[in-house]
Amino acid sequence: MSFTDRMAQALRHARDKNLTGLLIAPGPDLVYLTGYRPVAITERLTLLVLSAGHEPTMIVPRLERPDAEKAPVKLVDWADGTSPYEAAARLFNRVGTYGISDSAWAMHLLGLQEELPDTLYVSLTKALPMLRAVKDADELERLAAAGAAADQAYEEILKVRFSGRRETEVAADLAALLTEYGHSQVDFTVVGSGPNGANPHHEAGERTIAEGDTVVLDFGGLKGGYGSDTTRTVYVGDNPPDEVREVHDIVRQAQQAAFEAVRPGVACQEIDRVARRVITDAGYGEYFIHRVGHGIGLTTHEPPYMVEGETQELVPGMCFSIEPGIYLPGRFGVRIEDIVTVTEDGGRRFNNTPHELRTVN
Ligand code: ZN
Ligand code: ZN
Ligand code: ZN
Repeated sequence: MSFTDRMAQALRHARDKNLTGLLIAPGPDLVYLTGYRPVAITERLTLLVLSAGHEPTMIVPRLERPDAEKAPVKLVDWADGTSPYEAAARLFNRVGTYGISDSAWAMHLLGLQEELPDTLYVSLTKALPMLRAVKDADELERLAAAGAAADQAYEEILKVRFSGRRETEVAADLAALLTEYGHSQVDFTVVGSGPNGANPHHEAGERTIAEGDTVVLDFGGLKGGYGSDTTRTVYVGDNPPDEVREVHDIVRQAQQAAFEAVRPGVACQEIDRVARRVITDAGYGEYFIHRVGHGIGLTTHEPPYMVEGETQELVPGMCFSIEPGIYLPGRFGVRIEDIVTVTEDGGRRFNNTPHELRTVN
């Protein structure tokens, strides 16, 4: 879909929500709608104003105008020493409700409110949560490529030494591999060994990995502008104990069941429920302490969220993670995560490395 089509579609959705217009700040929304990514995001106001009956117009600092020319929108610049809010106000209705990007700075929103006291503002993610959720063919290709690169990094990390090295050292190896396979940005490299694996948001610390540890590896970033995010749990040594095998197998079954539930028309919360049911039936329900997934695209965490209470139905082209886990406090954790996309009749994985419990040295 062209940027012009994306902007027109966003405006149609805005009208359905009775919004006067949309205010798009630098960040993923602006990249999605115009392709424009300011070289540096600074205190100087840049803002795309979309409102019905008006040409899409972007307010830009005068010194950034040459760079902004590539955005397929009309430009209005403002000079240092003048008020950007006065310049912006000329493009607004004096009265109305605008959806504004979550990435807009509070100082800019306050500046607009002061200039236009009869306008109201709502969070764009709240008003139009599905703005970027359904990916087109080009976006799906980029997400698939990012997933394949993360898979290559996983296959390579299995060959490095784990025991006797710190988590941060393995995390650095993972980051280097993601970059080697084409990522322009590494967002996270979780290496949770032994008891650290039982803390789902542990990143990587100074703990030295030892034989007999399970290790949660959760890593991703951006490649070609789109996100990767995958998790596998490995075991250090030749013979994983029965309990580790059992917990790992339950998580594997939960991930598979949730994947098989993916098809158009199914509510997001159903994907969470299916995974949770498998884990709860196995007696570990209280140890699965987070939602089962999040959307992915220009960012690595975005709507739609696969969580209880989210009744949004799946639509072909949506892309999200399925990442059930079991976390046994003080002992170990297991998580398995793939990015999947909704197809016309089911789901397709962007991560395709084996789910079996792999062993490392
Ligand atoms: Zn997270
Ligand atoms: Zn992850
Ligand atoms: Zn994730």
